[in-house]
Amino acid sequence: MADPPTFELGEEHLAVARAALDRGLCPECYGRLLGRWGHGLSNPERTERISTALGRGPGPERPPCPVCGGAFARLDAWTERIVRAGEGYEWHRFTCGSRWEPERLAAEEGLWTEVGTSWGESAKAALNRELGKRVEARTGALGGGEGADLVFLVDLAVGTVEVTVAPLYLRGRYRKLDRTIPQTRWPCRRCSGRGCVHCQGTGKTYPTSVEELAGAPFVAAAAAEGTRFHGMGREDIDARMLGRGRPFVLELLRPRRRSLDLAALAARLGPEAAGRVELTEVGPATAADVVRVKEAAPEKSYRVGIVGVVPLAKVNEALSLAVGHTIAQRTPARVAHRRSDRVRARRIVAAHVVDATEGRFTIDLRTEAGTYVKEWVEGDEGRTEPSLASLVGAPLSVDFLDVLEVHDAEGT
Ligand SMILES: [Zn+2]
Ligand SMILES: [Zn+2]
Repeated sequence: MADPPTFELGEEHLAVARAALDRGLCPECYGRLLGRWGHGLSNPERTERISTALGRGPGPERPPCPVCGGAFARLDAWTERIVRAGEGYEWHRFTCGSRWEPERLAAEEGLWTEVGTSWGESAKAALNRELGKRVEARTGALGGGEGADLVFLVDLAVGTVEVTVAPLYLRGRYRKLDRTIPQTRWPCRRCSGRGCVHCQGTGKTYPTSVEELAGAPFVAAAAAEGTRFHGMGREDIDARMLGRGRPFVLELLRPRRRSLDLAALAARLGPEAAGRVELTEVGPATAADVVRVKEAAPEKSYRVGIVGVVPLAKVNEALSLAVGHTIAQRTPARVAHRRSDRVRARRIVAAHVVDATEGRFTIDLRTEAGTYVKEWVEGDEGRTEPSLASLVGAPLSVDFLDVLEVHDAEGT
């Protein structure tokens, strides 16, 4: 049971009520001058109590109300417009906001000073709350708080309702078995995605990506308008992502449906993805997961195929010198155009040879987050020191690279 309403009027409250008489205020705006006094009453109910105590009402209304401009008289019409703006979307939680002419809000504060109230509630906060209550009653959706699916903005001056559709987030891990696809959609550099001769009108540098292959069934099921893909780091295009896969969060933009069978969708990505991208551990996520994924700096394990004429004993000796030690890596020449040029200290956590034949060998390697593995093997013309090439004293080149594991907090 809710507490019974309380609204004890002292002389100081009645003084406010008297000073506000005969100003043409609507019952909502008159009662709201004491809106933060007592509880359990709507503002028009406050007006009734005040009128009983004073022995008279606030005087005739002079529409449109000088404070709210008549906004509170049109609550039902605004509610109807909000409900219509949300049609076509699945939504369970929402918030209502309103855009007021600043002069109107300033005038309201001026009135507070004039009538001497310390209990005034702003018209904007009250309207947002009253709209929220009515939309809840009409739709059964839950208003206010975190996690709104739709955010409605009532523009009082223009007479429109803007609706912002929150993204639908999902998380999981992806395995990439194809050495030709980037992690994310990569707009064509020449045309920035508009489509040109260079990209054959696709607007893309690569025909597809993990983002597109993995996202397609979810986009279709949610009737979303696009995606944003957040990986916990990324591998090179020509590197596979194996093991348990790499954690990611996928944002589905402006989804029309939100109740998706995520596991079933993840299990059948469609023929284009077959043998190229797989998803595991897919489940619902929030915006906070994007931050978690972007800020994580997990160690990673790699398998690296290396070409170089070096005796196996020399390779083993070099690896034992490297493990547990720090290397100095200057930003690689190949990424210097998009990363600041500086020297980073990184650690080789573990390394051992898994296979060796004449002129080539394969190693498994575990490194600290942010280690440039290809450059550590080859040396990057002295920009990584020491490198495996410098330790064995012979030129080396990376033949292939696979990520075997991303050792994030949820795994080993
Ligand atoms: Zn009003
Ligand atoms: Zn292009």
